[in-house]
Amino acid sequence: MSPAELSPRNPLTGEVAGTVLVTEPTDVADVVGRSHRVFASWGSMTRAERKPYLRAFAKHVLHSMDRITDVVRSETGKDRGDVLAEVNATLTALDFFTRKAEDLLSPKRGTSWPYVITKGWTEYHPLGVAGVISPWNYPFYLPTLSAIQALSAGCTVVIKPSELTPLSGQLIEDLALESGIPKGVVQVIHGDGATGAALVEADTDIIAFTGSPAVGRKIATVAAPMLKPTLLELGGKDAQIVLEDAKIKDAARAAINFGVFNAGQMCVGIERVYVVAEVYADFMAEVTKAAGKVTAATGDKRDIGPLISPPQIDIIEDHLKDAISKGATVVAGGSRIETEHGIYFEPTLLENVDHTMKVMCEETFGPLVPVMRVADEAEALTLANDSTYGLHGSVWTKDRKRGARVASKMKTGSIAVNDHVVNFVYPSIKLGGIGDSGLNGQLGEEGIKAFTIHRSITSARFSPTTKVLGAWLPRKRSPRYWKRLAYLLFGWRR
Ligand code: NAD
Repeated sequence: MSPAELSPRNPLTGEVAGTVLVTEPTDVADVVGRSHRVFASWGSMTRAERKPYLRAFAKHVLHSMDRITDVVRSETGKDRGDVLAEVNATLTALDFFTRKAEDLLSPKRGTSWPYVITKGWTEYHPLGVAGVISPWNYPFYLPTLSAIQALSAGCTVVIKPSELTPLSGQLIEDLALESGIPKGVVQVIHGDGATGAALVEADTDIIAFTGSPAVGRKIATVAAPMLKPTLLELGGKDAQIVLEDAKIKDAARAAINFGVFNAGQMCVGIERVYVVAEVYADFMAEVTKAAGKVTAATGDKRDIGPLISPPQIDIIEDHLKDAISKGATVVAGGSRIETEHGIYFEPTLLENVDHTMKVMCEETFGPLVPVMRVADEAEALTLANDSTYGLHGSVWTKDRKRGARVASKMKTGSIAVNDHVVNFVYPSIKLGGIGDSGLNGQLGEEGIKAFTIHRSITSARFSPTTKVLGAWLPRKRSPRYWKRLAYLLFGWRR
């Protein structure tokens, strides 16, 4: 029997973009075994020795921008500019982790107060083989982001890209090899959920997964009995809060931009908007204008491309139908545009929405922007926090102190004040969701450290602290001694 293949099609043209061989689930353990063998040398390099390889990789990505763009476009139908923005976000992360890995992972000294005769520190050693499983919406950026954190921590990686976008995933291995990263440090395997599941079950030391909450839960369930760490970047239902002192025009343009960008197929897209009553009418006037300027069309002049995953149309239309049946009004858009090959959806603005509707509670992952009028800041916060998701969100106000105060009350992993999604150009701080949006997260110091074993070492300066304290057998110290010692050391706290 000939091996199975994946042949993704360009949603714009229907053309087959290329073909890769499927990695049968039974072969995944061998790939992971190879990764372990390569880890023996890659993982034992110093961070300074690894740095030139990572730098060469980053440079090669920079010089391969057009090639990456062609490949990503060939299987997603995205606009050229959108893919170049994705490459820029990738380079931002590559640059940060390549430059900063040494600092971020340098040993961290502890304080031994009050037992000052022992010093202690924590070292960060690579975990081993990292399994990276990624979705189709940002098919080059997302797997590379996880991979670069793993690689700069000293892990080797096995990437399982989405079955809809295997060529973009394969390109990561090709570019790594061409840039001089030793063979086997980055390997890509192909297939659907069965191949992904095999990677979780194999002898991987950590799984970095980006995708839906349903699959994230399955992975967590399989990994838990093995006590295998997982980083889960899952779905989102980002809220935008527009306060009465916001720059209304910016907030309105942002609602459309981050609501319909990449046809809404963005985990950190704006999925619901809460506008304070005082400025609601002004906001609706501006947001309607903004929606009218954005086009979903099949020709070259378009802002919104086709849906990358055709079944997504069912969810978008179900959410829209449900909202309309419960009283929502369509202010702009509302229809699919079906061509010979791809399915597009118009940028769609809704009002008169509430939390009984799916469009306000479940992830749509499409270009729907529902806007809800709220009495004030307090109601906006209550509704924004009324969600099982907690990935990202934004607050719009001219008063930056107020923005920061409101942001710190939002129950999400990250929040932007007067912007949205900036974490992708801000890799030094963590991005990660809570609730249905995920576990642990990536980026920042926490992101790279997640791929390491935290090894804490203590060293007695002249004599064992435990001996000096009198904790050794045979017992010499009375209970009274321990009480007095406690008062002596901590009595000042009374
Ligand atoms: P998905 O969960 O269906 O698939 C993601 C990946 O998991 C694919 O590679 C798939 O083959 C694999 N997979 C499927 N079943 C598996 C299993 N049982 N074990 C292991 N792997 C398995 O997601 P999708 O449809 O590709 O992407 C859309 C989802 O991704 C949305 O929910 C979106 O919000 C989310 N997403 C999240 C982020 C983030 O950073 N939080 C970023 C992008 C997308």
